[in-house]
Amino acid sequence: MSADRLENVTQRIQNAATAAGRPEPALLAVSKTQPAAAVEALARAGQRAFGENYVQEAAAKRQALAATLPGLEWHLIGHLQSNKAAQAAEVFDWVQSLDRPSLVAPLARHRAPARGRLNVLIQVNVEGEPGKSGCRPEDLPVLAAAVAAQPMLALRGLMAIPVPHEDPELRRPAFRRMRGLFEQLAGSHAGIDTLSMGMSDDFAIAIAEGATLVRIGTALFGPRPAK
Ligand SMILES: *Cc1c(COP(=O)(O)O)cnc(C)c1O
Repeated sequence: MSADRLENVTQRIQNAATAAGRPEPALLAVSKTQPAAAVEALARAGQRAFGENYVQEAAAKRQALAATLPGLEWHLIGHLQSNKAAQAAEVFDWVQSLDRPSLVAPLARHRAPARGRLNVLIQVNVEGEPGKSGCRPEDLPVLAAAVAAQPMLALRGLMAIPVPHEDPELRRPAFRRMRGLFEQLAGSHAGIDTLSMGMSDDFAIAIAEGATLVRIGTALFGPRPAK
């Protein structure tokens, strides 16, 4: 079941990349709300990177699977509260949702050198939605410089969650804008290689517009359990 879903999604990602003449992006399996057993099943089918929205939930799954499946990679993709930054720096291999200067020092300070550098993506509120997570595009250069100045953080690129639309095609301009911001960032910083955008219902469009990593939950795990 997990193996079939993974194979199906992988094939669809490959097809989208081929159709658009783009390199195949990495796949992040979004396991929020899914039990550790579901992560384990997908990991046994060959998936390695998992995305979570909450620090606590990720910490529990990481702990549960550390002995049997070492080497899984955990990404934070949900909003990071300042009082959770210290724990996030311990639990995750990647934080994709850094979106304000006040998170930079706590993440860097609490990253144990033995864990290696924490990979960071800056989340951008690309359409300027009020009240939404993500830094404004105009604040990106200053925030990127602050991350890049921290030896324990590795600035890798950008992440975005465009406004949901009934028609995923309407998200294309936001994806395109992100690609422009990503290329600007790569022009001013070394080591920029990750543009995280695209989910279950719009990943083909995101890939066509330059995503190097897609974040897929529902298409891999089925509908999320009701909370
Ligand atoms: C839940 C979530 C996803 C995955 O969404 P699906 O539609 O289930 O694929 C991707 N990115 C973020 C930031 C999410 O919160």
